[in-house]
Order: sequence, then C-alpha cells, then structure tokens
Amino acid sequence: MKGLWFSELQTSTLKISCMTKSVLCSEQSQYQNVAVLDTLPYGRMLVLDDVIQTTVKDEFIYHEMISLVALNTHPFPRNVLIIGGGDGGTLREVTRHPAVEKATLVEIDEKVIEASRKYLPQIGSAFDDPKAEIVVADGIKHVQEHENEYDVIIIDSTDPVGPAVGLFSEDFYRQVHRALKDDGILVAQTESPFFNEELVSSVYKSLKKIFAISKVYLATVPSYPGGLWCFTMGSKKYDPEQVDLEKIPPLNTRYYNPQIHKAAFVLPNFIAELLK
Ligand code: SAM
Repeated sequence: MKGLWFSELQTSTLKISCMTKSVLCSEQSQYQNVAVLDTLPYGRMLVLDDVIQTTVKDEFIYHEMISLVALNTHPFPRNVLIIGGGDGGTLREVTRHPAVEKATLVEIDEKVIEASRKYLPQIGSAFDDPKAEIVVADGIKHVQEHENEYDVIIIDSTDPVGPAVGLFSEDFYRQVHRALKDDGILVAQTESPFFNEELVSSVYKSLKKIFAISKVYLATVPSYPGGLWCFTMGSKKYDPEQVDLEKIPPLNTRYYNPQIHKAAFVLPNFIAELLK
C-alpha cells in the first residue's frame, strides 16, 4: 500500500487501485496476510495476500451467483458443502435458501472467519445460523473423508496459489464427485475469462470428463480483474439450463433472478471458443 492507495498487482503489467480511508486489520495467519480495508469506491474490502476477495458494495453479485444457480438447479438441495468462503457470504446465501437443511463451511484459515465476523458483519452474518456448521480444515482432506453425502458442493476458493492450488485439480474434482450424492452438483469460481483463459478451459474440460453435464456461466463482479467472472458447474443429473424457471422459489435477491439464471449460460463467442 502506498499513501492512501491500495493496489492489487494483477499481472506484472496491470494494477487495480482504489482509494482507502483506513486499514481496519492486517494480520499474518499461518496461510496468508488477512486484511480488511475501508475503501472509498467499494466500502469495506477483504484482502488476502494483497488480492481483493470481496467488497461490501458488490459482494452480493458473486455470492448470489455462486450459490443460487446450483441451489435452484437441484430440486432438493438439503445438504450443502462450501469449501473456502471464509468471509461467510456464500454461507449467508446458502442458509437462507428455503430447501437447505444443513450447510457445512470448510475454511482452512480461521483468521479469515474471525476478520469477517468482526469487520464485515453484513457478509459474515450466518456463521451462527442453526443450519450452519463451521469446520476449520483443509477442504481437500474433508472431501476425501466423505462419500455420497452432499447434494451441492460449492468451491469458493482464493486464486490457485498456496493452499488453493489443489482445489483446481482434476484429482480433487474426482474426490468431489465421490463426495456428492448420485444426483449431486459441484460449482466452482473459475476466475477471469480475460486473464485466466487457460484455467477456465482446463477446469471445464476436467469437469466434462467427470460429470454427465458440465457448463460455464458468467456474472459481472466490478471489483474483480476485468469485471467478467466465470463459474463452472459439474452436474451428475440436472441440467441448469432445463430448470423450470417458474418453480424457482421467491428469493430476496439483488442480482439473481430466474431470467438471470437462464441468461448467465449464454456465452460470448470468445469464451465458447475457450471451451472447445
Ligand atoms: N470470493 C473470493 C474470490 O474469488 O476472490 C474468494 C472467497 S474466500 C475469502 C476464499 C477462501 O478460500 C479463503 O479464505 C482461503 O483461506 C480459503 N481456502 C484456500 N484454500 C483452501 C483449502 N484448501 N481448503 C479450505 N479453504 C481454503
């Protein structure tokens, strides 16, 4: 950080900067530097190892889209696992879905949960929800220890560095397939189609080998590099594009709605090309 400007170095030639009022916390955990900044354009912002994770201003887009597309594709998403997601935003969306009975959050770094509880209460509002179970552990290990258990598994990870590297591997997706029930669904955040083309393509191709149905969908998250963001779904049975939109339960959302559910799967040609 220099003066009042915070900059995320996206590549050696691209920085994303925003004006910052104050640093609410900055602490080195066993895994990463965990910071919460109060910024002018986005309000409070969670930053891990100098990389923007989520902001109060636009978090609803990412958290609704990583959760609700899968939850409304599965007809009975009772038991849901979230890997990563220590800020709690995905947990908030999952616990407030009427069909969900249990949501297990497996986050490797308890300092992220602590920082979110304390400084991002709007995002980390569901840690004490009766449907929620919080496990501080490596998501890779957790998945290896469970079989035929979950209806939906959401991989809400950091970028593929450090402990998150394994969350983008084909071997891990096979373990996730095993941990899902016979009609289960996996969804993962899969980065930017502009700056991570290789990753978008390889995750999709891995899931295509493992799951009956594999699809990429999009949302626009202003605080992420390039804005346009990919999510990749692997489904054993249900096609997210065949959902009866009239059956989607009424949800108090700010971005997601039945039309967005459908439209999110329409891909620009350059992204469709990446998936060939
Ligand atoms: N929405 C964010 C984004 O895409 O920028 C990511 C949200 S969340 C903060 C990501 C979390 O994944 C981090 O808190 C990190 O500690 C956690 N994480 C990374 N690797 C993990 C692993 N192997 N098991 C469990 N959690 C992990």
